[in-house]
Amino acid sequence: MSTTTLITNIGSLVTNDPAAGDGPLGLIEGAALVLDGDTVAWTGRSADAPTADEVHDAGGRAVIPGFVDSHSHLVFAGDRTAEFNARMSGRAYSAGGIRTTVAATRAATDDELEANLTRYLDEALRQGTTTFETKSGYGLTTRDEERALRIAARHTDEVTYLGAHVVSPDFADDPAAYVALVTGEMLDACAPHARWVDVFCEKGAFDGDQARAVLTAGMAKGLTPRVHANQLTYGPGVQLAVELDAASADHCTHLTDADVDALASGNTVATLLPGAEFSTRAQWPDARRLIDAGVTVALSTDCNPGSSFTSSVPFCIALAVRDMGMTPDEALWSATAGGAAALRRTDIGRLAPGARADLAVLDAPSHVHLAYRPGVPLVSAVWRRGAQLV
Ligand SMILES: [Zn+2]
Repeated sequence: MSTTTLITNIGSLVTNDPAAGDGPLGLIEGAALVLDGDTVAWTGRSADAPTADEVHDAGGRAVIPGFVDSHSHLVFAGDRTAEFNARMSGRAYSAGGIRTTVAATRAATDDELEANLTRYLDEALRQGTTTFETKSGYGLTTRDEERALRIAARHTDEVTYLGAHVVSPDFADDPAAYVALVTGEMLDACAPHARWVDVFCEKGAFDGDQARAVLTAGMAKGLTPRVHANQLTYGPGVQLAVELDAASADHCTHLTDADVDALASGNTVATLLPGAEFSTRAQWPDARRLIDAGVTVALSTDCNPGSSFTSSVPFCIALAVRDMGMTPDEALWSATAGGAAALRRTDIGRLAPGARADLAVLDAPSHVHLAYRPGVPLVSAVWRRGAQLV
């Protein structure tokens, strides 16, 4: 029999369960939460809470679902401080910088890659992230892509094959041969370790036809597509994602009206990654336009050493509210339930009976403080699968 835990005296509880409380967040003031083992068993008002084996007093703090970071690149080695420093001194970002990390990642041992990965996972956990997706894409050989996914799969179920991050420098004169590798031998080696297939559909990376070849080959091996789309320029990525019923089109910074219409009419989530625009001093994606069109929006970090070296979802929430037209409620929803939608998950991103007991306690009375108090480490406790880890 599992242990039940009552968390009581919660100032405000975000459930993302509209049946349980106010608005889309299912907000409950003066709330309590009962966990049964690794699962949420009950939510409601403190005064109505049932008894439990253990009791925790939240002291009026806010409780939110753990963040679902549905887009990161954490299997890498090396550092790109110099590139960031140069870019902030006026040089434009281009997709080619990835090759610096490729060289360092190939030279690293498995243990070094895993130690780097777990370091950033711990960092993210302390900031409230209880589920994360991560990708390969810094190996670009069959051996190095396969080992990146094998290492990532020890730490998460949400593993994405991104052999098509950029054309490997070994194939600079023959991109078609690299696409053949990514859709052939490399895919065969990688598919057993991955749930998702992804491609960087962008000028300087892969065009629409190449992206389609990569995604459909992955789908034929049982992987579900997600796409790096329309980050640096307008292009075919978003509409390709919707056409192939990708779980997510990620970045969505440069969108035509037809792109927005496609997202609104399909099942593909638009995942916005403001850490990338912040770190490359680029134009913000327009979250307001997408939400007003009825598109489901997720918010994630894109944590990677080149273009967005932050593991902080609260930082991304603050940017989204300040600069992308999201309300604090929308940003919180997108970083939790939205991330879950981008991973086609219903067991996470919400605190409703039957959902996984993944939550963060904020040293603040309301989730609004995540945007109201930017840069302040407000996450004071994190529970994952019913166990307090932070
Ligand atoms: Zn990315």
